[in-house]
Amino acid sequence: MATYVITGAASGIGAASRRRLESDGHTVIGVDIAHTDVVADLSTPGGRSAAAAAIDEASGGVVHGLVCCAGLGSLSRVSGGTLAAVNFFGAVDLAIALKPALERARGASVVVISSSSTTTQPGIPKNLVAACLDHDEPEAVRIGDEVTAIPAYPASKLALAWWIRREAVRPEWIGKGIRLNAIAPGMIDTPMTNSADLDPELAKALDFYPIPLGRRGRPDEIAALIAFLLGPDSTLFCGSVVFADGGTDAQLRQQDWPAEWTPTTEELTRHFQAKT
Ligand code: NAD
Repeated sequence: MATYVITGAASGIGAASRRRLESDGHTVIGVDIAHTDVVADLSTPGGRSAAAAAIDEASGGVVHGLVCCAGLGSLSRVSGGTLAAVNFFGAVDLAIALKPALERARGASVVVISSSSTTTQPGIPKNLVAACLDHDEPEAVRIGDEVTAIPAYPASKLALAWWIRREAVRPEWIGKGIRLNAIAPGMIDTPMTNSADLDPELAKALDFYPIPLGRRGRPDEIAALIAFLLGPDSTLFCGSVVFADGGTDAQLRQQDWPAEWTPTTEELTRHFQAKT
C-alpha cells in the first residue's frame, strides 16, 4: 500500500480523494490551512517549506504520490495575488520540495488540479501566466492583485497545466520515475462553487455555465480519476492534462485540439534527433 500526500484535504475534491484512497487501503497525509494532519499556509514560501518538512517526517521520507488540490476560487473574495500564490506556487513549490521523497518511492505520481476554465474562460492575462512559469512569485502576486481574482484564476490554472507539460518530460522528473499529470475539472459541486460566502451576483453566473452532461460533477468522480492517475494502471500518462467536465470543453472548443503541428525544420531536427 502507498503513502499519498493530498493538499486541500479538508474540503471538496481533496476530502473526497482522501476518502477514496483510504478506502482503497492507502495511507494519506493531508495538508490544509486547518482541520487536517499537516496544517500549513500554502500561500507563503515559509508555509510551503514547513509543510514539506512535516510531510517528510510523517512519511519517513518516502512519498508515492502527491495530489495538489489546495486552491482558491475566483468567486471567493480573495485577492488575485493570494489566489496565484496558492493555486500555482502552492502546488509547484511543494512538488519540487517533495521531489527527493517522490524519487525514493521509485515510480511516484504527481497529480495537480488545473481547471477547464483554462480553455473556456476568455480574457486570461498572459503576463500572469508568464510570471508563474518564470517562477517570479512577487511579480505574479503583483499582477494577480492588479487584475483581480476572476481573471487570475484561469491564469493560475493555465500556468499550472503548462508547468506540468513542460516539467513532466524532463529528466529531473520522468527520468527519475516521477510522472506529472494534471486534471482539468469542469464545474464540480464543492464549497468552492456552492458556499454561502460566494459573491451572490457572481455566483448566479455559474448557473449559466454550459454542461452538456446536464449536471455539475461530484467530488468523488474527480477522486476516482485521481486514484487512477496515482496508481499502476496509468503508467503511460506523462504530462497529460485530462479534462473531466461533462462535455463543456468539447462543446465550446470542438476542433481547437488535438491541434495540427507545423514545425520548422529546426524544431523537427531538435525533437527527432536519434539518441546515441
Ligand atoms: P474547496 O474550497 O472545497 O477546497 C479547497 C481547499 O484548499 C480547502 O480545504 C482550503 O482550505 C484549501 N486551501 C485554500 N487556501 C489554502 C492555503 N493558503 N493553504 C492550504 N490550503 C488552502 O474547493 P474544491 O472545489 O475541492 O477545489 C479543489 C481544487 O480543484 C482547487 O485547486 C480548485 O481550483 C480546483 N477546481 C475546482 C473546481 C470546482 O468546480 N469545484 C473546478 C476546477 C478546478
